[in-house]
Amino acid sequence: MFIFHHINDLTAYLEERKRNGASVGFVPTMGALHEGHLSLIDTARSLTDVVVCSIFVNPTQFNNPADLENYPQTIDQDVYKLELRKCDVLFLPSVKEMYPDGVEERIAVNLGPVAEKLEGSFRPGHFRGMATIVDKLLAVVRPDSLFMGQKDYQQSLVVKELLNRTGSKVLLHVVATRREPDGLAMSSRNMRLTDGERQQANLIYQCLVSIQAQAGIKPFGIVQKECAELLEKKGIKPEYILLCDAASLDILDEYDEGRPMIALIAVFLGEIRLIDNLVL
Ligand code: AMP
Repeated sequence: MFIFHHINDLTAYLEERKRNGASVGFVPTMGALHEGHLSLIDTARSLTDVVVCSIFVNPTQFNNPADLENYPQTIDQDVYKLELRKCDVLFLPSVKEMYPDGVEERIAVNLGPVAEKLEGSFRPGHFRGMATIVDKLLAVVRPDSLFMGQKDYQQSLVVKELLNRTGSKVLLHVVATRREPDGLAMSSRNMRLTDGERQQANLIYQCLVSIQAQAGIKPFGIVQKECAELLEKKGIKPEYILLCDAASLDILDEYDEGRPMIALIAVFLGEIRLIDNLVL
């Protein structure tokens, strides 16, 4: 695997490969790689000739400085895992490389209403920061396909909006969420949970499954209340437990079998904020 720290080295390599007809698949990450990230690499591997992964802990998408400060960094293990999965290229830029004019820079594109909801309102500035770095990375890698996880469902909708609004031809592939055996969605932040928190964390998925199972049986308001009580009893603080239209993320007060629905949950376990979702 080639490892590049500088934009010009990466683009020189990729230009050469593209000239020879290779298609490029891109998997942007913030590192501390787990099987969820690696399933994106596998999918990219199966669909494109050159697989590029980036690891960059993007400061502009963190609305909580402590979260940025404590974000796990496991670069040696990450390189090892990527090599095992036959990733071709790792792009590992510095903050200066990506933000030469300083981290105040933000993309000016209107990200549409989907970026204002849920994560957009609980984490002000998060999506603009995320879109800023995705746009910058896409301008550098210029891939044919971009691979992102359904784990961050709203993020994938915002990126879809970004691609549409910038007239990008990049194909977005949204890859299914990888879970631990007990159902907890894999996340880099899971490694910061205490043993006790980790044991309770699968309740997030259990709530999502019960929201799905109760469709057409119980009113959503009751299921939502039961889930909140179950989580709170175990010391997990729900930030939101919502049923939404899967396309627009408009909040639904009640199950509506006539449209695609998604259940989304955000919680705090101690200091750690986790999100998950399930398409119904
Ligand atoms: P992150 O490093 O958290 O920014 O995630 C990088 C990419 O991996 C994003 O597109 C995420 O949606 C995706 N991802 C994170 N966790 C999972 C998971 N458990 N299953 C599938 N994709 C994931």
